[in-house]
Amino acid sequence: MSINAALFERAQRSIPGGVNSPVRAFKAVGGTPRFIAKAHGAYMWDAEGQRYIDYIGSWGPMILGHGHPEVLEAVQKAALDGFSFGAPTEREVELAEEILKLVPSAEQVRLVSSGTEAAMSAIRLARGFTGRSKLIKFEGCYHGHADALLVKAGSGLATFGHPTSAGVPPEVVQHTLVLEYNNVEQIEQAFAEVGGEIACVMIEPIAGNMNFVRASAPFMKRLRELCTQHGALLVFDEVMSGFRVALGGAQSLYAQQIPGFVPDLSVFGKVIGGGMPLAAFAGPAKVMALLAPLGPVYQAGTLSGNPVATACGLATLKVIQRPGFFESLAQRTQSLVQGLVGAAQQAGVPLVGDSQGGMFGFFFADSLPQHYQAVMAHGSDKFNRFFHAMLERGVYLAPAMYEAGFVSAAHTDQDIADTVSAAAQALS
Ligand SMILES: *Cc1c(COP(=O)(O)O)cnc(C)c1O
Repeated sequence: MSINAALFERAQRSIPGGVNSPVRAFKAVGGTPRFIAKAHGAYMWDAEGQRYIDYIGSWGPMILGHGHPEVLEAVQKAALDGFSFGAPTEREVELAEEILKLVPSAEQVRLVSSGTEAAMSAIRLARGFTGRSKLIKFEGCYHGHADALLVKAGSGLATFGHPTSAGVPPEVVQHTLVLEYNNVEQIEQAFAEVGGEIACVMIEPIAGNMNFVRASAPFMKRLRELCTQHGALLVFDEVMSGFRVALGGAQSLYAQQIPGFVPDLSVFGKVIGGGMPLAAFAGPAKVMALLAPLGPVYQAGTLSGNPVATACGLATLKVIQRPGFFESLAQRTQSLVQGLVGAAQQAGVPLVGDSQGGMFGFFFADSLPQHYQAVMAHGSDKFNRFFHAMLERGVYLAPAMYEAGFVSAAHTDQDIADTVSAAAQALS
């Protein structure tokens, strides 16, 4: 038995399914998960010493690659001064100021430890601010695993959702309405029917949890108008897209296309922690003032604003602000996607792809899907075969076709070229 297989067998005895987050188990693609022993730059090594070019980057945080020297130094220095105090620190203030500088829509920010916590808290805040209960989300968008968000569409448009997880009481999701991504008619109808009861609309502006799907500018514009008109808050879940698709997140891209565009609340995670448990939610001071200890909306965390995590996040945010950082990351990501599409053309396999900043997706299809049903309409069989063929060739893609991919600043042109030639072999 291989070392990875032996570890997986052992893991399954002490940990449910052998993993601490389900996608790591390779259930969607089959086969044995690789147990990672170490990572450096653009590479990870498994327990058998096999090297992989890493296109997951811990699902987004590792935008600088693994073990960036400046980040390592900041973390080591912070660790020497103590792991956690349960009291305020100057570094939390510095990180908050840094986030607010880069995200003009936000005047205040609260730090938490995971994207799940941040999204859950943002919804509580939106409900507290509006005094309303209902929320709209979109099929295929993931906002963490809070009860009210584990929901699929009901039978009719205005019917509220059904839980997608056991253990979630139907009453908990009765206020959650699930609509189709990029469908203007559906949001218009939903607001026409229950607009006055909607606390917030939560959306991944560039969805990375159904592969890679952009919300169209006309859809986003209409969503903004409807939220404003009906007094609902527009909540951008930028846990994945924030500081990843552009320095100012996806919202900076919509602001370029829609004059004056801003979301009401924003949710961040992944890159802002640089690989440490750190996330945040942010918005206008008048909304954020409702949070405890100032206001009646309760929210707290023993490890929130952790001194080592904030050091890691701060060092990461410093590096990504250097001139040309995003241009060069975007250019390498584009050349990867173009290379994959080219290799597929040569092999006569239909494949399309898209990218923004350091985030990308590709589909075994003739055109880019616009919503979840269209993403899932293409069977996973081709993707799964491709995934394993790439893994065998030392390229680690996300182990499910409904996940986005990530390029880091540590990926070289040679890494991209090696990946494309592995893809050419795999596809033929
Ligand atoms: C990863 C992710 C989350 C959840 O973050 P965790 O830190 O895993 O809890 C929420 N929203 C989006 C868009 C994400 O990609």
